[in-house]
Amino acid sequence: MFFKRAKERISTIDVEGMEVEVTRKSIKNLYLKVSPATGRIRVSAPVHASDRVIQQFVNSQKNWIEKQLSKKTRVNPTVELNAQSGETHFFKGLPYVLHVIAANAKPKVSLEGEGKLVLRVRPGSSKEKRLRILDDWYRVYLKEEIPRLIKQWEPIMGVQVKEFGVKKMKTRWGTCNIKAQRIWLSLELAKKSPKSLEYVVVHEMVHLLERLHNKRFHGFMDQFLPDWRERKQELNGRVC
Ligand SMILES: [Zn+2]
Repeated sequence: MFFKRAKERISTIDVEGMEVEVTRKSIKNLYLKVSPATGRIRVSAPVHASDRVIQQFVNSQKNWIEKQLSKKTRVNPTVELNAQSGETHFFKGLPYVLHVIAANAKPKVSLEGEGKLVLRVRPGSSKEKRLRILDDWYRVYLKEEIPRLIKQWEPIMGVQVKEFGVKKMKTRWGTCNIKAQRIWLSLELAKKSPKSLEYVVVHEMVHLLERLHNKRFHGFMDQFLPDWRERKQELNGRVC
């Protein structure tokens, strides 16, 4: 005795900026599944359900989906960091052990020796102050790296980014304002590998060619960064 596997048809639809994987198979109802760890939103639907019906269904659950995603796909690390000696901090995808040194001079962050991240601060600097100095250091790196990437990709993709910015984001790695041709990137990307940073920059730039996360969008991604799926794996949750 054997069972014949029911024919499944998988596609991707966009519901107000959310990328939803749809599997059509021989079932009677619509089912919604959200994986907080990966940020994937999946719908199982009857074979003949239209995209419109599925979009309405997902839309009606929007608040619940947002809540699930923001709960567990926080881009921020789950380990609370206090910028104290001995903590592990990441830079460009690699771990470093933090050494905090009190010094009566302008605060400074530097990579010294193997796997050592040195933070020099004035004696008695608060945790907030120490964290802010580290953030500033991450920001300086991104503000050098992102324009370089944009410049490199603009002629290849035939788009133009008018403005970019770096900010702290809770649940996303980037956003794109298509009208203003402006992209925002998460400060946390400084902690991820350069390949992942490039992936997010390219993803945002592809939005200048295609607003939705649809077949055309993924076609561009395949064309520009054939290994984008692997790059995406380092990043939990949604890009945007
Ligand atoms: Zn996107």
